[in-house]
Formats: sequence, C-alpha cells, structure tokens
Amino acid sequence: MTENTSAYEEGWMLVSDDGYITDLGEGSPSENILAGEIEVVSLEGKILMPGFVSGHSHLWQSAFRGIAPDGELWPWLDAIHRTYGSDFATGDMKAFTAHGAWDQLCHGVTTTYNHTHWLDHDYAIFVEQLDGEMDVPQRFVFSSCVDLAEEPSVWKQRFVDLMAESKQVPTKNFLSLALNLRPYGPPSVAAAQVELAEALDINYQLHYLEQSGRQEMDRSAWPGYREAGVPSGRATFAHFIHVDDTILSESAEAGAGMIWNPLSNGRLGSGLPDISTYLESGLKVGMGVDGQASADISDPFENLRMGLYALRMRDENSDGLQPIDILRLHTIQTAKTLGVDAFVGSLEEGKFADFLVVDPQSPITGPIWDIPAHLVFSCSSANIESVYVGGAKVVSSGEPVDFDLLPLAKEVEERISEMRKRHASTQAE
Ligand SMILES: [Zn+2]
Repeated sequence: MTENTSAYEEGWMLVSDDGYITDLGEGSPSENILAGEIEVVSLEGKILMPGFVSGHSHLWQSAFRGIAPDGELWPWLDAIHRTYGSDFATGDMKAFTAHGAWDQLCHGVTTTYNHTHWLDHDYAIFVEQLDGEMDVPQRFVFSSCVDLAEEPSVWKQRFVDLMAESKQVPTKNFLSLALNLRPYGPPSVAAAQVELAEALDINYQLHYLEQSGRQEMDRSAWPGYREAGVPSGRATFAHFIHVDDTILSESAEAGAGMIWNPLSNGRLGSGLPDISTYLESGLKVGMGVDGQASADISDPFENLRMGLYALRMRDENSDGLQPIDILRLHTIQTAKTLGVDAFVGSLEEGKFADFLVVDPQSPITGPIWDIPAHLVFSCSSANIESVYVGGAKVVSSGEPVDFDLLPLAKEVEERISEMRKRHASTQAE
C-alpha cells in the first residue's frame, strides 16, 4: 500500500515474536532467513494485505443497527442520541463498544478511530468506552470530548488521566488519544479546544458538512472555525462533503484531512464528496466505516465499492480513482490522516504485523487477473480467512479466536431490551 510498491505476485514477510514486521520482499526469502529459528506459514493462493483502518467510527452504535431507516442525519440523531441517550445504564456503553470493536475486527478493520460520545452522561461514559475497546485486540485511536461546562484546566487533567493509559504504546492496542472537538458557541469555545490539543500534542476531529439540508448553515460556520484555528495539521473533518473552494483550499493549505464514509453517507442520504478534487488540492483523505447505526455492516470491502462506484456513476466514466488508489485510501492514507502511519496502514519493516489473509477461493471468486482489482471488485469480508494483529491470529473464518462472541452478543440484546423498557416507562410518566 506504500506509494512506490504495488502487489507482489509472490512474496514473503517476516514477523518477530513481539508482533512487528521485521523484513519482507518479493519472491522467496533467502536461505539465511529460512535457516533461522522461524515458523513457516504458507499462504499459497491467498492474498496478504494490511488490515483496514477506519478513520471515523462510533463503536457503541453497533447496538443500534437498522434504526431510523428513513432518517437523514438530524432525524436519525433524534432517533438514537436524543431518544435513548439518557436511558443508558452503567455497563451499556462498555458492552456496546466491545460489540462494535469485535464486529469491525471480524470484518478486517484492525485499527479504528473511535469518536466517542457523551449522551447526556458524566465522564464515566468515556472511561466505559475506553474499557470496552481495551478488552478487544483491535487497535484504536481514542477520541474523547471535553465538558464545555468545565474549565479548560479540568479538561486538561481529564486528558492527562486518559493518556496515562496510552503510555503502554506500542505494545498495547491503544495507539493514541485524540480530541472530539465540539465547536459549539462562539469561536473562543473551539479555540480553547484547539489550544488543549496543542498543549497535549494530540490531533482532533469534528463532524463537518455532513447533512445535505444543512450545508449552507454549516459552511457559514467556516469563518468562525478559521478564527479559532481549527483548520490545521491536527484537524480531520469527518464527512466534509459540501465544501466550497475556500473551505477546501484553506483546509488543504493548513495540512488538514478529511474522512470519507461512503456507506454512512449513502445510508443517511448525505451526499458524495468530490474525492479526486480533494486529492488534487493536497487535502489528506482517509476512509471510515463510521458507526454501525449508519453503516450497518462494517464491511470495508463494501465501503470501497460503494465509494468507488458512486464516483464512477456520478462522473459517467472510470477515469478517476482506481482500485489500488482506493485500497490505499482505506489503509495507509487513513493512517497518515490520523497520524498513526508509523505503526499501521501498510506492510513495512518496523510496523505492527497487522494484516489480513484473504482467500479468493473461499467463497470462490475465480482466477485473479489483477490483485488490487480482484480485492476491490471481487472480494468481500467473507473472503477474509484470518485477521492478525501484532502477528497474532485474532479472527479465523469470521469468528474471534480466543473469545466467545455469543455471550457478549446476548448481553447486548438484553441490555437493549432493558433500555427500551426503561425508556417506555419514562415516556409513560
Ligand atoms: Zn460520525
């Protein structure tokens, strides 16, 4: 997935006991390497590729699939956040988050950006979202909010406490902390959060230019964002569909990035960003599978096809993005946009051995003419034979290797059932 290499018809990769890629190449490994104390795993006939990276997700939404099927963003938010947000009980958030993380991992997303939420609760809701992720071998960037009612000095301490957990990098799955920037109010509110991110040396992300019906209002916020210093190398905009020339060029110039979420943008009728123009402008572009309540199956292969085909339908030609380009967008380019490309996003010496073994013969997809095209056009997550994180097999044939998903799935069912009862009783009062 790196810029200078493409797929090898035949290749090899050496992984250390502690889970890093230590060497790789085309053809066969040298006699020297084969003579070492190594365990050889043959993947003949299969495709080895880096794990997918999702640059924008809300893992807890895994418990809310299929909800508000006719809703665009705002009514959809009403149906989830504003309907059930206050009905969450202790433990719900942790269980839903773990459910969402396992779902993504089983579909080949080995690194995710978990953009967490308050939902009218106290700070414990973030700790639950962190705990839910820590129990799953998926790597993640943890994006947490600040309580706008609190003083910035309190914000800082809360983030320092959360960061203490991330000091275990790079042996843990917690890659880094980030800020879920909430620019509500005058520009000084966003400016204080930008200052916090600078002081802590972390990146931030915010939803911007998502719902089509609100695009003019959203664009009118830009001068305030500019004044607050929001467009910068630390910024990624989730969705970022309805830009104008000023917003695009100023974002690109500032070194900002955007995360494209084709499945979610299709489900919610949000729109199609002009990705080729964004790339030409120099904007960093990554991809995400968003939360499972708006991309109800977190299948990155489906996300790739949805995005690529939508662009080709709109353009009425196939001149733009090619399969290798969109594969890079969902792996190395997302990692670069999030600032975690030193660890993940491609198969390179020194990076984590996070990869997928894709079997194009199960289910049978036919002979391979072109490897990237075969992956993007012909494969689905059903072809993922196994998922490795840090050199360890964590998913085999769609199921976790060392974890029984059924009790967690059952717990989530029960928790949702209880939540709906609680909600009905508060409505009756
Ligand atoms: Zn989102």
